[in-house]
Amino acid sequence: MAKYTEAKCRICRREGCKLFLKGDRCFTDKCAQDRRPYAPGQHGRARKKLSDYAVQLREKQKTRRAYGILESQFRSYFVKADMQKGVTGTNLLVILERRLDNVVYRLGFANSRNQARQLVRHGIFTLNGRKVNIPSLQVRVGDTVEVPEKNRKISVLAAAQEVIARRGCPAWLEVDGVAFKGTVKALPQRDDIQFPINEQLIVELYSK
Ligand code: SF4
Repeated sequence: MAKYTEAKCRICRREGCKLFLKGDRCFTDKCAQDRRPYAPGQHGRARKKLSDYAVQLREKQKTRRAYGILESQFRSYFVKADMQKGVTGTNLLVILERRLDNVVYRLGFANSRNQARQLVRHGIFTLNGRKVNIPSLQVRVGDTVEVPEKNRKISVLAAAQEVIARRGCPAWLEVDGVAFKGTVKALPQRDDIQFPINEQLIVELYSK
């Protein structure tokens, strides 16, 4: 499977905002974006006037990198969102939020989406009682994500659960930390996605 190998904090600095790619470290004063809030490289501090296209491109890249998705899959999500009823940009964000790896992260079973993806790939979770290992799987209302008894001693799970208090669990999910179980109460709404994304710019980019 293809994946990003670029230094994670460098990605945040390139996009000019915190993408929370490094788990707990992102909430500490060690965050590179907080310490050096300018683009990496020799000309990172230079003021540049971005074209409309560049602004749209950066917004798309930021969103794609925050969710850790490669271009081809991101574009296929856009096509899917465009075919659905409603506002395309919102549909796109809902599709991204409904990914199983994102749900695992949101429930606090992993410190970052990257870690969530790895745990899902290793078959740590069950979805509605059945073992799953597909991070891109789309959850539905009423689905339950659970950590079976035999997997609960994994140290990263305990570490991640300590951090969830800082991140908070979104209203569309319900988590029972003691039972290592999460439920999808409803589909996410636009207001549930607090991360600063201007999805309209992504729609404009792909609609050219
Ligand atoms: Fe981004 Fe800061 Fe986390 Fe690094 S520590 S990944 S810069 S949010």
